[in-house]
Amino acid sequence: MKVLLHVCCGPCTVYPLSVMRREGVEVRGFFFNPNIHPYREFRQRIQTLEDFAVQVDFRLDIHREYGLRSFLREIVFHESERCGICYEMRLRATAEYAVQTGADAFTTTLLYSRYQNHELIRCQGEALGKKFGVPFLYRDFREGWQEGIDGAIAMGLYRQPYCGCIYSEQERYDKRWRKRNSRKN
Ligand code: SF4
Repeated sequence: MKVLLHVCCGPCTVYPLSVMRREGVEVRGFFFNPNIHPYREFRQRIQTLEDFAVQVDFRLDIHREYGLRSFLREIVFHESERCGICYEMRLRATAEYAVQTGADAFTTTLLYSRYQNHELIRCQGEALGKKFGVPFLYRDFREGWQEGIDGAIAMGLYRQPYCGCIYSEQERYDKRWRKRNSRKN
């Protein structure tokens, strides 16, 4: 079985790739992440992913265009729903690429993260799979959370401290913003 794996970054790819390979799946990677900002962070995550791909002999296609503007055009005025929009953008591009490359199915390393909305990713992936005629392979890769972290550390991969977009970067580092928003909740 040939699976196109959408990859958000190197560390999140360690476990999904290794478990599917152990099961005999032929995995090809696809980096498409207009949500990663700012530019130097985008470059660093690509560099880390490329280093990882060389280490484990992973076939990988990288969409190198920095998508700040296209991302913000979709998100502005919809900030409270931004993660759903962000998943959809990335899964749609992956489904289209899966069809182009003749994959039997597609999936995503977003299903590895404990911080993402797993059910929403599943629903969107399955809907897009139906729309484009290529099945979405649902897996709960969170089962390998620690194995993935240990693998990334062992390989010396850069592990980013925030999800990706400039909004998540502020949420990670702006203590005053966090305080204001926790009071509202
Ligand atoms: S927090 Fe992460 S998933 Fe949500 S919009 Fe930002 S980059 Fe995308």
